[in-house]
Amino acid sequence: MANTTLDIQTIRKDFPILNREVNGKPLVYFDNAATSQTPQQVIDVIVAYYQNYNANIHRGVHTLSQEATDAYEQARKKIQNHFNAAKAHEILFTSGTTHSINLVANGFATILEKGDEILVSALEHHSNIVPWQMLCERTGAVLKVIPMSLDGELIMTEFYKLLSSKTKLVFCNHVSNALGTINPIKEIIDAAHNVGAAVLIDGAQAAPHRKADVQALNVDFYTVSAHKMCGPTGVGMLYGKEEWLKKLPPYQGGGEMIAEVTFEKTTYADLPHKFEAGTPNICGGIAFGAAIDYMNSIGFDAIAAYEHELLTYGTEKLLAIDGLKIYGPKQHKASVISFNIEGIHPYDIGSILDKLGIAVRTGHHCTQPIMDFYQIPGTVRASFSFYNTKEEIDVLVAGIERAKTMLL
Ligand SMILES: *Cc1c(COP(=O)(O)O)cnc(C)c1O
Repeated sequence: MANTTLDIQTIRKDFPILNREVNGKPLVYFDNAATSQTPQQVIDVIVAYYQNYNANIHRGVHTLSQEATDAYEQARKKIQNHFNAAKAHEILFTSGTTHSINLVANGFATILEKGDEILVSALEHHSNIVPWQMLCERTGAVLKVIPMSLDGELIMTEFYKLLSSKTKLVFCNHVSNALGTINPIKEIIDAAHNVGAAVLIDGAQAAPHRKADVQALNVDFYTVSAHKMCGPTGVGMLYGKEEWLKKLPPYQGGGEMIAEVTFEKTTYADLPHKFEAGTPNICGGIAFGAAIDYMNSIGFDAIAAYEHELLTYGTEKLLAIDGLKIYGPKQHKASVISFNIEGIHPYDIGSILDKLGIAVRTGHHCTQPIMDFYQIPGTVRASFSFYNTKEEIDVLVAGIERAKTMLL
C-alpha cells in the first residue's frame, strides 16, 4: 500500500533544479502543467544509457544493442503495467501526445467517409483539435463540438444530443490543461460505444495526477507525454486496442516498421513496430519507464491527496486577493489554477512573477477556444505538483500582491 503522507522535503531533494535561483530568488516552479521537473533517479538513467549501452535497438547482434533493446522493451512493459494494457504491443512509443493523436487521425483518413461525424470537446488542447480538422478536410467528415459551461465543464446533455449513428469518433481530454477540469470520460466512452463510435482520450494532463486503467475504461486510444510526468521531453505513448492498431495503416514509412521490402511491394512489421518507423528516442523511452517507476515509488494515492491539499490551500489564498477571478470548476479538478486579476493583462503578472523567481504560464495555454469562450486574452496559470509546498504558494500570493501594487 502506498502511504498517504509525503515527506516533501525529502522528495524535493530528488529534484536538483528546485535548488536553483532565478533572478536572485529561489525558484518557485508552478508551470507543471506545461512540463514537470525531472528527478535525479531519471537523470541517472539517462546518463547511464549514454555512458554504458548506447546502441541502436532491434537490429544488432552485439551486446550493447541487446542491452539497449532489453531496456527499451522493459520500459514498454512498465508502461503497459502502469496503464493496465492487456498487451505490450498495444503500447506504441511516440514523441508525445501530439504525435500520438496525429498517428490516429492519419489512420482514420482511410476509414472515415464524407458526412461521418467526429465529436470533439470544447475543452481541448490545440493538439487535439487541429489534427481532426485536417482529417475532416481530407475526408469530408464533419467536426462537431461538445459545448462547455461557464464552470468549465462539458455540458453532457448536449453531448448526448450530438451523438448519433453518424458519429464515428469522439475525442476528449481526461483532464483539461487550461482549467484542470476532470472530464467524465467513462460516461463518454460508454455512450460513444453505444452508437458504435471509437474514443480517443488525451491523457497528457491526467497522467501526472492519476493512474488510468485503459481496460477498465474500455477506451480505444489513450495518449500520454512523458515530460508531464517526470520523464524527458520528446517521448510519450499511444495506447491503442489491438483490433484498432491492426486496422489502422502505418503512419510513417521507413526502417523498423517493415517485414519485407522490395521495389514491387513492402509488407509491414507486426505490432508495435508497424507504427515505430526509424530509430526511436531509445534513451527517452527507457527514461519514461524510470519516470513511471519513480512516480509509483511516491504513490499515486499519496500524490492525489497531497496535490488536493495544495489546490484547496492555493484556491483559498488566491481567492482572498481582491479582484482575482479563477476560471474553471470549483470542485473535482486537478491541481491547476487558472486566474486573472481585474484590470491587468496576464502577461504583465507573469513577467513580474518571473522577476521574483516564480514560474507560471500565461496566455491561452494552447486552448484558444476556451479563452474565446470566456472572452479573455488568456489567463495566468499556476499548476502544482507533488514537490511543491504551501510556503511556495504563500510566495506566489505575495508576488501577486506586489504585481498589483506595481501595475494598478
Ligand atoms: C501538454 C498537452 C498536450 C500536448 O502534449 P505534447 O507533449 O506537447 O505533445 C496535449 N493535450 C494536453 C491536455 C496537454 O496538457
